[in-house]
Amino acid sequence: MIPIPAHTLQRIASAERLLVISDFDGTLAEFSTDPMNVPINQAGMAALSALATMPNTRAGLLSGRDLESLKTISGADSDSGSDSGGGLVLCGSHGAEEEGVGLELSHAQQETLEQVTAALNELVAGTEAHVEHKPLHRVLHMITLRDDAATTAALTEAALALQIPGTVTKQGHFIVEIGVSQATKGSWLRQAIERFGADATVFLGDDRTDEDGFAVLGPQDLGVKVGAGETLANVRVANPSEVGELLQALAKARAEAQR
Ligand SMILES: [Mg+2]
Repeated sequence: MIPIPAHTLQRIASAERLLVISDFDGTLAEFSTDPMNVPINQAGMAALSALATMPNTRAGLLSGRDLESLKTISGADSDSGSDSGGGLVLCGSHGAEEEGVGLELSHAQQETLEQVTAALNELVAGTEAHVEHKPLHRVLHMITLRDDAATTAALTEAALALQIPGTVTKQGHFIVEIGVSQATKGSWLRQAIERFGADATVFLGDDRTDEDGFAVLGPQDLGVKVGAGETLANVRVANPSEVGELLQALAKARAEAQR
């Protein structure tokens, strides 16, 4: 059973213009030691895609992954921003990389990223951890160390202590990410709500960076936190499987409300 009162689901589903945005990893997909081979909740993806085809409805993915990786892993098509429904909206790098929107780094940003790369490479030398290169971020990945709490804690602490000027550091499940973009899931979601003119927004996420998204939602919206941990979201579900159930219920209610 999804933990949303029927009248709330009904109200959201009946909104004139509805925006439904979901995080990907830990929300629509389970974690895996191979980040390009994560178990995707197919019911949830199908429901999100169905929502994206409905009138006055936009649906999509907002992920910390870089856009290329998000496109590949989700198998999602995108209509690159038309307001008429169609494909999913895809946005990577916590909102800094939207499909169809150009991305250019300044010389200073490039130099800062090189500094970050050198510092993280030094940290992971001799460990099982690795550093991922995204257009605006470097990510310290530690999921391969999930059975070695001491090394994970030491690496995390060292990465968080780097404090390179011009960078923003984020901590997530098995990762520390250091980037040169000021974008957050909240800043992207706020402008997406405005751009689309959403009357109600549903945002789903499992991690700390998703709290920036929950923070910009209003009383007419629905924030859905996946898993344990403090949250600003209105409701909580246990795992991606329950996310699938919730999105299926929302897609069904939306289709009925528009009949
Ligand atoms: Mg996530």
